[in-house]
Amino acid sequence: PAQPRDRLRVAVQKSGRLGDPARELLASCGLTWRESRDRLFLYGESLPVDVLLVRDDDIPGLIADGVCDLGVVGRNVLVEHGLEHEAQGRGVRLSEWRQLGWGVCRLDVAIPEDLEWTGPAQLEGLRIATSYPQTLGRWLREQGVDAQPVVLNGSVEIAPRLGQADVVCDLVSTGGTLRANQLRPVTTILESEAVIAGPDHTLEDGRQEIADLLLRRLDGAVQLKE
Ligand code: ATP
Ligand code: ZN
Repeated sequence: PAQPRDRLRVAVQKSGRLGDPARELLASCGLTWRESRDRLFLYGESLPVDVLLVRDDDIPGLIADGVCDLGVVGRNVLVEHGLEHEAQGRGVRLSEWRQLGWGVCRLDVAIPEDLEWTGPAQLEGLRIATSYPQTLGRWLREQGVDAQPVVLNGSVEIAPRLGQADVVCDLVSTGGTLRANQLRPVTTILESEAVIAGPDHTLEDGRQEIADLLLRRLDGAVQLKE
């Protein structure tokens, strides 16, 4: 069990697409901080809230292990982590405490531009490059399609050109990256946005009250923007 903590700890992407908006969100809740020398922590000054700066892929695990209480992360990462742990039959379940409405993207299957799309059955027996094997695997099972995931941690969209895979299952926002690689999205398997993730139980040692305060301010800040 995690050591008792009386300050809330929030995991945020260190750099990348969600890092800056997540910090802006915390600032809009009235949080001020000073940064640790090694740029791992933001120590909250105005509220008992500290921020841990990490890779987005690590955020669900940090919450599940109780190292952090909440995290700002894409639903795509949260769902993939949840399925992985379901498959292993262990771990704390995580849930979406808030949907943030930015960081919007889709997890799409994309095929070479010159191929006609006749439906999911067309994927039978193909190699599908993806960084989201669990999410893809669930969708393929739902479709009753037997295909072969090829797990890559980056540059998924170049796999067909390299002959590593036949098609891809990748995150898409504008589709520009796919087009640049002569691929076109044909079906969406997950709609994603940034969310506040947390455990599916209340927090201990007074941290739930701090989280409630933070989320109330966040809801207020979101309303002001609308
Ligand atoms: P890290 O170094 O933290 O692992 P990363 O390269 O995995 O970073 P980013 O590319 O910064 O991650 O993307 C973070 C999140 O932004 C994605 O998980 C997704 O939820 C969201 N996102 C929004 N639009 C896109 C897009 N077009 N491509 C990829 N991710 C997107
Ligand atoms: Zn990542």
